Amino acid sequence: MWAEPNDDVIPHLDCPLCHNSDRRFIVGTWEDPIGVARCTACGLVHTTGRHATQPVTSTLSRGGAVRRQHRQAFDLYDRLLHGRLRTPMQGAAALDIGCSGGAWLDQLHLWGYQTEGTDVDPSLAAATHRVHETDADGAADLGRRYEVVSLIDQLDLVERPAAALHFAARHLAPGGVVIIEVPNWNYWRARSVLPDGIELGRKVAFYDRDSLRDAVVAVGLDPLAIWSAPSVLDRAIATTRAQQARQGAPNFLRRTLSLAERALSHASDASDRGAKLVMIAHRVMDEAH
Ligand SMILES: [Zn+2]
Repeated sequence: MWAEPNDDVIPHLDCPLCHNSDRRFIVGTWEDPIGVARCTACGLVHTTGRHATQPVTSTLSRGGAVRRQHRQAFDLYDRLLHGRLRTPMQGAAALDIGCSGGAWLDQLHLWGYQTEGTDVDPSLAAATHRVHETDADGAADLGRRYEVVSLIDQLDLVERPAAALHFAARHLAPGGVVIIEVPNWNYWRARSVLPDGIELGRKVAFYDRDSLRDAVVAVGLDPLAIWSAPSVLDRAIATTRAQQARQGAPNFLRRTLSLAERALSHASDASDRGAKLVMIAHRVMDEAH
């Protein structure tokens, strides 16, 4: 039903987060090769199988659109961190888990970070960044700690999300932060029963505010901010901001933008309306230092 009959499908027999095997189907049934179900124990929405052969994603592009997208992401994360991201300490290091072509690391490098990544294929970003060859949910120890660890569009794809979160938490320097971005399940679910744009053959899990918070707390991380906002509004503000930076703008427009941004950041504290969820977390034990 959700996969061609002759596709090789690897079944997910239990919940990727808590390994409970009891589930309630949202899309499909036990008989479909790939469905979507909610774990009856931890509540995580997950797929019940994936294609054996994963399509090779081309994220090598570092064109203008990709750079702009990462710059906007940087501005958003920085806003959630009250300006901390753009003022790194001398020698601060950043690790991007699943760094692919390294476009996000390029952005961090611009702001003065020492940048490293992990990827199953380290060659993609190796020309410009140090890349460790390891799975996103690997048990490796990279031998150092980082002020910023990012997991961007990874947690929904890894087979063992708890291990990936542990990996991130383990590599945090004291006072460091983890930045996590995932598609927002509630946004997609609200649109249709089988949400468009969700590649069932590839995804492992879908997060909403609560399940993302639970997953992060379970590995000893403490959420500092969870953000989601109607994408249209957020995009409109980001675009107007960029235009204003390029061409200058009258004071009233600048003031209006600031007000709109402030309103959006307050609204997004409780919003579950956006296409994506962003979480900023730190280690609970850091508070004792
Ligand atoms: Zn579960």
